[in-house]
Amino acid sequence: MNITRCFSVNSVKKAIISDRGSSNLPNFEWRKWVPIKCNIMAWRVNLDRLASRVNLRRRNVDISSVMCPFCDEYEETVDHFFTACAVAIRVWAAISARCNIPRSSLSNSKI
Ligand SMILES: [Zn+2]
Repeated sequence: MNITRCFSVNSVKKAIISDRGSSNLPNFEWRKWVPIKCNIMAWRVNLDRLASRVNLRRRNVDISSVMCPFCDEYEETVDHFFTACAVAIRVWAAISARCNIPRSSLSNSKI
């Protein structure tokens, strides 16, 4: 995360290099292993360009409700869908457990 508190690949790379203490380690090579469709999805999330119910309403699409279909407590925005919904929180917890990623490292990043 950079000074604007926005996620970027460059900030992750700098954090990894900072943790290692040097960028001159011979085995450090940045590999782009994330599939392009995941990069495009993340890019659209960052721009708030996904077809959330709130965004559909903003585009004058006729929908019956803008409430989140999982919790029905809040409007379905991109932020709610990926980070605030109770269902999303459980999914991220399961992913972090499966990938052995401490929850504290996920809580500061914007998805
Ligand atoms: Zn929800």
